[in-house]
Amino acid sequence: MKCTATAKSTGEQCGRHALAGARVCKVHGGGAPQVRDAAARAVLEQEARQVWAATTHAPVNDPLTELAALAGEVREWKELLKGMVGDLTSLGYRGMTEQIRHQVALYSDAVKQLTVVLTAIAKLNIDSRLVAIGEQQTALVLAALEAGLDAAEVTDIARHRARSATARHLELVMGGQPA
Ligand SMILES: [Zn+2]
Repeated sequence: MKCTATAKSTGEQCGRHALAGARVCKVHGGGAPQVRDAAARAVLEQEARQVWAATTHAPVNDPLTELAALAGEVREWKELLKGMVGDLTSLGYRGMTEQIRHQVALYSDAVKQLTVVLTAIAKLNIDSRLVAIGEQQTALVLAALEAGLDAAEVTDIARHRARSATARHLELVMGGQPA
């Protein structure tokens, strides 16, 4: 890829090769630390994407298990950073406040990531529990209906109508959950 900067001398686009992962050459800002960082990151990401594109991707069938595994991974990362912050501060690294600041920022990001994953797990757990409660209530109502129909000795046709009507009603009040 060619450098996208305009050469001052000619007023035309610079003809040099841009740095890998960047849009500019060394002369046109490619040597600046933030440009080098971004370029290195872009190269890494492109490499990772190529590997990713060549692999097959299995679907996630059990989000709860997947989230639990992810939570374990994020927690390890958080603990690792916590240890590094602890080492830096307890060893009295004077004059390295910049490094400590970066470590603390990374640690704080990891804590936020872990909170997001754990919150998602808690929410999924609550949702599945609500579904289970709904299913229990439905089963209770259906059993009560059958007992009532037995006691009234109703005909098969009437029984069938009563079951259909009950199922429709439950579906309405349970918010579309299958009765
Ligand atoms: Zn250039």
